[in-house]
Amino acid sequence: MSGPLLKVENLTKHYPLGAGIFKKSIPVIRAVEDVSFSVAEGETLCIVGESGCGKSTVARLLMRLVEPTGGRVVIDGTDIAGLNKGALHAWRRRMQMVFQDPYSSLNPRLTAGQIITEPVENFECLSRKQRQALATDLLRKVGMSPEMINRLPSELSGGQRQRLGIARALSLNPSLIIADEAVSALDVSVQAQILNLFADLQQRMGIAFIFISHDLGVVEHIGNRVAVMYLGRIVELAPCEALFAKPVHPYTEALITAAPVPDPTRARLAAPVEGEVPSPINPPSGCAFHPRCSLAVERCRIDVPPLVPMPDGRVVACHVRAPATGTPLVR
Ligand code: SF4
Repeated sequence: MSGPLLKVENLTKHYPLGAGIFKKSIPVIRAVEDVSFSVAEGETLCIVGESGCGKSTVARLLMRLVEPTGGRVVIDGTDIAGLNKGALHAWRRRMQMVFQDPYSSLNPRLTAGQIITEPVENFECLSRKQRQALATDLLRKVGMSPEMINRLPSELSGGQRQRLGIARALSLNPSLIIADEAVSALDVSVQAQILNLFADLQQRMGIAFIFISHDLGVVEHIGNRVAVMYLGRIVELAPCEALFAKPVHPYTEALITAAPVPDPTRARLAAPVEGEVPSPINPPSGCAFHPRCSLAVERCRIDVPPLVPMPDGRVVACHVRAPATGTPLVR
């Protein structure tokens, strides 16, 4: 893997709730708070967390489908926040998205061939022969028969529709694909086929992936590194193997503990996390995880823990497990 393809710095998204008479009294949903990470060429970075942790908002911010409240998204040295509409259109060739529900993300009136070539035809005119060649090639790349070129989405299975969504994303030859819960609507056996397809495409075409999922089993299968999000913030970012072998942040530990254990020899680490994710409208003070954390100390209720680098290359935001001073607190 070479240097960063994508660099995300202090990305923040707040949604104001209503207009309010006095500006400072308007409540906001803190969907994403001060998120930073990078993705190298050909790397798969997974983003995990419970529903409502902000992971899908990060995907939308990266595609600039929503405007950030603050922070930067830099791809190959260009901050996309500064791009005008025309430049943004051209830049979108570099990053493509695959969605959770392939059925609702595909135009039901277009054939598979038209769906695949449509993004390219937004940029350039293709002859009939070129369209046919492109669609045939991409259908093969995603493991579908070229004979399906004239099928409508309604004539395909769920797995085939997701393959078609991937073929469409590949048509612009992107450097990065963002897959937002791309396999969660599929049966387990079809999930495995699509995950293998992603891994194969990454190996053959050198594409980087940001893989967003709530399913740790999927993440362990596909990730190079994993960012764990809680209430809009990254709380741990680590190489995949290290994270699953030894989670450091208490929330990561709880998530891994709560996930089904396919390997019966792997010991459970601690009691699963209890309670609901708090509201992002009025998040807890200090470390937002403190109401659910069995390790919480007084400082956790007051100060937001910074992400602290650990000797094995991970970063962790926890006053107890990764104190900024370098010495873990003893309880
Ligand atoms: Fe728990 Fe405190 Fe660490 Fe937050 S900072 S995870 S509350 S120990």
